[in-house]
Amino acid sequence: RVSVALFTADLRVHDNPVLHGALREAESVVPLFVVDSGIREAGFATPNRAAFLADCLADLDAVLRARGGRLVVRRGEVVQETCRVAERTGAGSVHLAAGVSGYAARREERLRAALAEAGRELRVHEAALTVVAPGALVPSGPSGPSGGGRGKDHFAVFTPYYRRWREEPWRAPLAAPRAVRVPRIRSAGLPTAASLAPGAASPELPAGGETAARRRLRLWASGPLADYAERHDDLAGDATSRLSPYLHFGCLSPGEVARRALEARGPGADAFVRQLAWRDFHHQVLAARPDAAHRDYRPRHDRWRHDADEIAAWREGLTGFPVVDAAMRQLRQEGWMHNRARLLTASFLAKTLYADWRIGARHFLALLVDGDLANNQLNWQWVAGTGTDTRPNRILNPLAQALRHDPDGAYVRRWVPELAAVQGPAVHRPWRLPGPDRAALAYPDPIVDLDEAAARFRRCRGS
Ligand code: FAD
Repeated sequence: RVSVALFTADLRVHDNPVLHGALREAESVVPLFVVDSGIREAGFATPNRAAFLADCLADLDAVLRARGGRLVVRRGEVVQETCRVAERTGAGSVHLAAGVSGYAARREERLRAALAEAGRELRVHEAALTVVAPGALVPSGPSGPSGGGRGKDHFAVFTPYYRRWREEPWRAPLAAPRAVRVPRIRSAGLPTAASLAPGAASPELPAGGETAARRRLRLWASGPLADYAERHDDLAGDATSRLSPYLHFGCLSPGEVARRALEARGPGADAFVRQLAWRDFHHQVLAARPDAAHRDYRPRHDRWRHDADEIAAWREGLTGFPVVDAAMRQLRQEGWMHNRARLLTASFLAKTLYADWRIGARHFLALLVDGDLANNQLNWQWVAGTGTDTRPNRILNPLAQALRHDPDGAYVRRWVPELAAVQGPAVHRPWRLPGPDRAALAYPDPIVDLDEAAARFRRCRGS
């Protein structure tokens, strides 16, 4: 008997329900990855994520080879290629992780139908990509914004979701297989980054793959995690896990990460696990409302402004607000940005400049190595006030944020070389420097007056 384990966003052997399910059912398994032309056509393949994905696939192949198997790679349309592989190997079933996007739902439906025609089965594993399966928790009280959910199919407010999430028994962990037997089947070579998406990747990307992910998790859980509660918002301290790209590609099981963190105990572990719950929360919103990837989750009837120069200044890190510019340049250089920096740059675009959140979300997705439809689009909507934030009209003042989360200015000096010589917190307000000092800096004046912008936003929102 043969079965197929179709890898998608679960590129690992540890605690992987898809691989585990396929192995339990058959003597030999095809660990399959399809370089899906559909994802490429949807524009979701970008140089940064392609570089990371190429690492992930090479590592997955190596990890499987160490167990006597290998990764089988195909190129083409995912449903067609999977059916072809199932037919050539005589596989009775295909195992797949349930995804949360509209694309994943359509892929699943088409695959189920195509396999059924040939008398094969699709087995979908619900809690492979999140700690708790999307859809497993539904609000029981009255629906509506105050009752925790507006539909009964998902939670629309984080806090009640989180309460239930912590009470929910998590799926039992699954050991990595000792041996994997793969039937004879042709495989394309492992893809290179350039073959996945042309273009240059950011210069400081992390290495992808399960091996690198497990090393990072080990180091994180045995050290910095303990201080996470106090330090996670410290921009210069860089004291978060940087596990997000590994979670996005499934090099780590979110359940395993949560368990490992809780074993460490203490406020750091609790605060960190709460962030993993945010990830699950956004996933369950998108699973229930796939259109929220592009449409306002809660329409506010915004009439967004579109000032092309302002938007370009934001993208390039030339707004004249040092903390915003530092963050936007970090994004370009590393393909990653600190969560606090994501919050304040997104607020700057969507509220201070009052530009459509979709423009910002697109720019983030083009560069983020952890760029994730659920996390990115729904965090953007949260910040823009069109999503699940229960205080949708608050604005983050970039100056106040800078003074609070980068009190000495070290984060700005790291990323904005034009300001590297300005000592202390004065770096956050170059416009206040004495005339000659200010004139010596090749750095722009602020593109907007913060008070006027805040008043404009309130007027536009009618708040
Ligand atoms: P840590 O602080 O170490 O947190 C651990 C993990 O928890 C993260 O790896 C992530 O998986 C999860 N997490 C943390 N914060 C959030 C959050 N607010 N929402 C959902 N999950 C969270 N995260 C992505 O993974 N992909 C994205 O495309 C993405 N886009 C974002 C866009 C905006 C505008 C904002 C405000 C946030 C976005 N986030 C996104 C969430 C968050 O900023 C990142 O997950 C986090 O910065 C990653 O760094 P870390 O792994 O060091 O996080």
